[in-house]
Amino acid sequence: MDFRQIFGADPETQASAPGRVNLLGEHTDYNDGFVLPTAIPQRTTVQLSFSPDRQHHFYSQELDELVSISDRDGTPQGFASYIFGCIQLLQQEGHTIPPLNLHVTSSVPIGSGLSSSAALEVATLRAVRSRLNLEIDDVRIAQLGQQAEIQYAGVECGIMDQMASSLADTEHMLFLDTRTLERRVLPFPAGAELLVVDSGVPRTLAGSGYNQRRAECEEAARQLGVKALRDITDPQAVETLPEPLRRRARHVITENNRVLEVLQGVSAQRFGDLMNASHTSLRDDYEVSVTALDTLVAILQQTPGVFGARLTGAGFGGATVALVASGQAKAIAQDVLARYNRKGYAGRTLVPEN
Ligand code: ADP
Ligand code: MG
Repeated sequence: MDFRQIFGADPETQASAPGRVNLLGEHTDYNDGFVLPTAIPQRTTVQLSFSPDRQHHFYSQELDELVSISDRDGTPQGFASYIFGCIQLLQQEGHTIPPLNLHVTSSVPIGSGLSSSAALEVATLRAVRSRLNLEIDDVRIAQLGQQAEIQYAGVECGIMDQMASSLADTEHMLFLDTRTLERRVLPFPAGAELLVVDSGVPRTLAGSGYNQRRAECEEAARQLGVKALRDITDPQAVETLPEPLRRRARHVITENNRVLEVLQGVSAQRFGDLMNASHTSLRDDYEVSVTALDTLVAILQQTPGVFGARLTGAGFGGATVALVASGQAKAIAQDVLARYNRKGYAGRTLVPEN
């Protein structure tokens, strides 16, 4: 149902924000490291108006769910927690936010690792900024979105997703130093485009696995005497660590180095090699892959026109990203999915959109 059907009048403003896919630099953002996401074409749109009563009313078209809540109520469950968190954090920054009618609609796949949560936060903050003429810049919007997700939705995320949704576009890669927030907009390697395929396997263990990896990285950094693993560039430095910390740290260090190599300017071929190496590292050193992802990545890597492929997102299921020859993504996707499906899986193409 659209805004008018839910709230009985037209919206006063609207804003949108894209999902993202991370090309290189996985599990590095909570190690103060480097990431290389890009925006995807799918977006989340938030429409809003002032609420006529004392409550906020949040509606999601995808979930067909309406949540009514006042600022004095506790944090709601589910999708409303992200929106409620954004509003609370704006108030804590000193902005006065009146009760809002807020309508969410999105083409970003929810829960596939393309960051529908960050798109929801950034679109919400942009819509509120627009309606109230707030002076907050795009970096601050990303930071508030991240804090909403951590403090109100209870997800210990890094800053990558929100920075990508707030600052990246679909035509470029966004290099981001997650410690300093220094960033650079880079062109895609010449002659290449993106292909994102969902493995069809839900990320069931992602939450617990993610927290465990975070703890292992913190412990590895502590034993190596650095603030974060980002402070180490030589993979040999991990050799003194006990397992599994040695391999966890080695993934983070080599992954950071792969992202930094891209800054030098690399060909599509070399970029693909770095993606393949990233997958091997995520599979063997970081141990966040699963058989379905390994199968799909292997099929992609064997397909002509594919420069490289790897799992993207936290792992344990979810999506893969590949760099492929320009103009060939759709044809390659068809071929790859047919072979993947013959092995008993049900994948689907997420980018480019059908
Ligand atoms: P991802 O960000 O990879 O898509 P997450 O688990 O981080 O996966 O975020 C998904 C959650 O974000 C959903 O469970 C829901 O609470 C919220 N969300 C995202 N998009 C929407 C939407 N369009 N409508 C309602 N909730 C949404
Ligand atoms: Mg998310």
